[in-house]
Amino acid sequence: MSEKKKIVILGGGYAGVKAGKSLHKIFKNDDSVEITLIDRKTYHTLMTELHEVAGHRTEPDAIRIDLRTIFKGRKVKVVTDSINGVDFEKRELKSDNRTYAYDYLLIACGSDSNSFGIEGIDEHAFTLWSYEDAIKIREHVENMFALAAIEENEEKRKQLLTFAVVGGGFTGVEMVGELGEAKNHLSEKYGIDKKEVTIYNIEATPRILNTLKDEKQITKVENRYKKLGVELLKNAALVKATADGFVLKDGTEIKTKTLIWGAGIKVNNFVGKLGLDAGRAGRVVVNEFMQSLQHENVFLAGDNVHYEDQDGPLPQIVEAAEQSGHTAAENIGALINKTEMHKHKQNYHGFMVSIG
Ligand SMILES: Cc1cc2nc3c(=O)[nH]c(=O)nc-3n(C[C@H](O)[C@H](O)[C@H](O)COP(=O)(O)OP(=O)(O)OC[C@H]3O[C@@H](n4cnc5c(N)ncnc54)[C@H](O)[C@@H]3O)c2cc1C
Repeated sequence: MSEKKKIVILGGGYAGVKAGKSLHKIFKNDDSVEITLIDRKTYHTLMTELHEVAGHRTEPDAIRIDLRTIFKGRKVKVVTDSINGVDFEKRELKSDNRTYAYDYLLIACGSDSNSFGIEGIDEHAFTLWSYEDAIKIREHVENMFALAAIEENEEKRKQLLTFAVVGGGFTGVEMVGELGEAKNHLSEKYGIDKKEVTIYNIEATPRILNTLKDEKQITKVENRYKKLGVELLKNAALVKATADGFVLKDGTEIKTKTLIWGAGIKVNNFVGKLGLDAGRAGRVVVNEFMQSLQHENVFLAGDNVHYEDQDGPLPQIVEAAEQSGHTAAENIGALINKTEMHKHKQNYHGFMVSIG
């Protein structure tokens, strides 16, 4: 009997999970193929709800779904391990403890935060790109209210009650909306006058939510900010962060112990070091089949992909991750079954932003 063909999916995010489900459908009755999904976590994170956990609206457990539960009854074996190397010649993935052989590999490791080398960001700003990040912000924000409640020095109290979110994209806007809501119940809980709380959204360009073309929608968001008491600083590039606050390009200094960086993302750090063709923000360039340009048996999907067609570049959103995961899975299936590969088609239903 010939050995089974091994498909390995690296990453159990939106792209990896969708690919696993699609591959199960293709190969559920085919004993000559085995499918393994490896993620460093035991769970799939609902990334789109991280800000709700960070802002105290959603309980942390609500945004984690056990990967083994997702694939129960499906032909996908889930392995928990953190991969730190790929040998494309030997067709092996490596972790600290072992190696995993593959015949076909799908890399879907997502994004990492990008500080663009701005002084002090890596050391002093919070990021919002994982479950752990969300928990850190959640606990820190509450701690600031608790400390402010017993702080008698006016300047220090003001610093504790100042919160800044950098970036007027979806992540920044959604995070700031949650803080705008959280301040009400945290002020009440710690006996603080909510007028003492300052929340900034800092945006380097003249406009927030640049992906939204309709100016009326931007006005709506800005009006919502006013209602929530959020101060929007536009044309305000942050040039330096310290343990005590940050400095803007025009020299304005703002004192805070809470700086949340939501101003940029790039390819997942590990994927960025694999030596694959790099496009914008280090994302891996793929062809219309979501296939690596260098290795015929390697596919990529989701946020770690750079792909562009007549509909524009693949955006870093859930629908794009799921669709590209599906395309990659179908094309791995096509290679194994020796059928024709399918070109990727982008098709989105629009954007949704929640502001508190
Ligand atoms: C706060 C926030 C709000 C958002 N809101 C929205 C929204 O409203 N709508 C929307 O469409 N998009 C939103 N997004 C973007 C969306 O979450 C991403 O586009 C999506 O998660 C990308 O899916 P992915 O599968 O490519 O990566 P991810 O979902 O990030 O999954 C990557 C997986 O790879 C695993 N992994 C990474 N490296 C390794 C390794 N070396 N070894 C093992 N496992 C590894 C990780 O543990 C993770 O499970 C938001 C993102 C954030 C952070």
